[in-house]
Amino acid sequence: MAQSSLISARRMSSPASPVPRRPSVPVAIGTVMVGGDHPVVVQSMTNTDTADAVGTAVQIAQLAKAGSELVRITVNSDEAAAAVPEIRKRLDDMGLSVPLIGDFHFNGHKLLTKHPACATALAKYRINPGNVGRGKKKDEQFATIVELARDHAKPVRIGVNWGSLDQSLVVRLMDENAKRAEPLDTAIVTREALITSALESAQRAEELGLRHDQIILSVKMSGVQDLIAVYRALATRCDYPLHLGLTEAGMGSKGIVASTAALSVLLQEGIGDTIRISLTPEPGGDRTQEVIVAQEILQTMGLRAFTPQVVACPGCGRTTSTTFQHLAQDIQTYLRHQMPVWRSQYPGVENLTVAVMGCVVNGPGESKHADIGISLPGTGEVPVAPVYVDGEKTVTLKGDAIAQEFQKIVDDYVVKRFG
Ligand code: SF4
Repeated sequence: MAQSSLISARRMSSPASPVPRRPSVPVAIGTVMVGGDHPVVVQSMTNTDTADAVGTAVQIAQLAKAGSELVRITVNSDEAAAAVPEIRKRLDDMGLSVPLIGDFHFNGHKLLTKHPACATALAKYRINPGNVGRGKKKDEQFATIVELARDHAKPVRIGVNWGSLDQSLVVRLMDENAKRAEPLDTAIVTREALITSALESAQRAEELGLRHDQIILSVKMSGVQDLIAVYRALATRCDYPLHLGLTEAGMGSKGIVASTAALSVLLQEGIGDTIRISLTPEPGGDRTQEVIVAQEILQTMGLRAFTPQVVACPGCGRTTSTTFQHLAQDIQTYLRHQMPVWRSQYPGVENLTVAVMGCVVNGPGESKHADIGISLPGTGEVPVAPVYVDGEKTVTLKGDAIAQEFQKIVDDYVVKRFG
């Protein structure tokens, strides 16, 4: 292939085609817009005790610096509600404007009434119609929260969850189903109960004075096929922005794969305006992993760009040393760590692609397709590593300092191209 053709092939491979989005009415959450034509927003949730204002502010800062554009915190007690304004202030003092979402269950009506500073400091309230109260109190307590949201001009996510579905609604729909000439499968009725709970709650919220553009919906389930089916149906029955997430996704690779499988199908169909990946962290694990997974889903699908991407081969019998694995890992970690600074200093750097390849078989070709690529020597090959910049070989590295020299080439490229 001629050099010019290679370069145009490399450039064509960078920007992905946007997926047409399902129409929805955008909702403002503080300074962040969700829905409409706005990009799919990444959000996360803390796992600190919210009453610990310092610890919670520190974790929110970590999540925000990792790229979380909204952060949800549990507000489950007087102590937690009292801490929210201090958490907001600490973040503001750090220069972090990330909007905070309060997660309320059972006592949200009391906490928001008793702690107006908390109600003000939060940018959005999340309520679960199955957990706002029981019996007669349910409607009353739901109304109190919605009226507070209306009076404080805050949007609300009505977040229905499979594990806490309003049982009175399930019974009602099951009874109606039993009267059909040909009753539907129980799973279908349960999915319908989730959707009905979300839509009826949204309608009630509007009747109580919340504007249409103050409502976001979610109907989370833990089964991939169930989640896809329920969101597809919900997407056709309303124009509220949809918050996507597979609830209780699990730990490690299982949680990542299950979330990716479910969300990528829906996102590819234009469904979903904000996403959260509900990973169970390893004991003592890094909470920011859920942010990185959310970003990587969106970026690998070509829907958004957050961080320069490293293309690396899997290695094989031609790479009997771990040199290239270390280089791929080091450069990926380095790029991600640079992003909090690079994001503002070098606009567009998130579209950068870097290739780290293990041998001469695919190394030069893949390196030419990236913005910067290095082809390391495989077993038995001459111990040199040609580097390609914008599709052209610029230098051949050798010796013990290949990693450091390659990192400097990446740094120089970023300054020159994006500075
Ligand atoms: S590029 Fe080389 S080392 Fe990497 S997988 Fe292909 S053949 Fe193996």
